Amino acid sequence: MIEIDNLHKSYAVGQNKLHVLKGINFSVNSGEMVAIMGSSGSGKSTFLNILGMLDEADQGTYVLDGTPIKNLNETLAARYRNQFLGFVFQSFNLISYKSALDNVAMPLYYQGVKRQQRTERAMHYLEKVGLANWAEHLPNELSGGQKQRVAIARALASDPKVLLADEPTGALDSTTSYEVMDLIQEINDEGKTILCVTHEMDIAHMCKRVVHLKDGLIVKDEQVEQVRAKSALHV
Ligand code: ADP
Ligand code: MG
Repeated sequence: MIEIDNLHKSYAVGQNKLHVLKGINFSVNSGEMVAIMGSSGSGKSTFLNILGMLDEADQGTYVLDGTPIKNLNETLAARYRNQFLGFVFQSFNLISYKSALDNVAMPLYYQGVKRQQRTERAMHYLEKVGLANWAEHLPNELSGGQKQRVAIARALASDPKVLLADEPTGALDSTTSYEVMDLIQEINDEGKTILCVTHEMDIAHMCKRVVHLKDGLIVKDEQVEQVRAKSALHV
């Protein structure tokens, strides 16, 4: 699903260059659930943003579902992003003046899906994340966990090949974090490929594979016995 070879990324900081990714080799098969771990500033978001085509590498190759991601113009990049990827962020990134339903339907609008079908599909995904009764509510009427569920429904609405999550539980208390991870695990159980950035060990171990970033390189890449979030919730 994902093939990364010798990926490099630097940022210009004044006269200097900050070399953040120093030759990353990484591949992910369809259906995997991978945690990307590392301390703050280790380049996790940089890496995920390149995987998500929100940013471009300086060097190296990236092939996503058989498609080389290189020198795409903004239109094509946007189309691939829409077609291949769903994003979930720490800060939810919902549109504050739109209802939960409209937030979920938004990516479908940009794909040219007709209104009625948009609404039906958005409702389907809201039901899937357990928020059918909250469809008409605005984000500020929802709890943090509910907001992240809406964001997950939005990410799934276009049925992406890969779900990319950057610290999806970073703004949530631990009970709510586990509820969100339980949902993400269920989505992976259905076959969706998932990459999840976190700096928390317990969250990482709810994935099936843990990749450690340090000093711009992957220093450890291991399969783990997946801890189920539901059991951690004692329900
Ligand atoms: P993480 O997500 O692991 O905390 P980031 O990928 O956000 O790390 O950042 C890695 C390093 O790159 C940090 O030192 C950060 O300050 C720097 N950095 C990130 N984005 C930029 C940017 N746009 N310009 C300059 N430096 C950046
Ligand atoms: Mg980050």
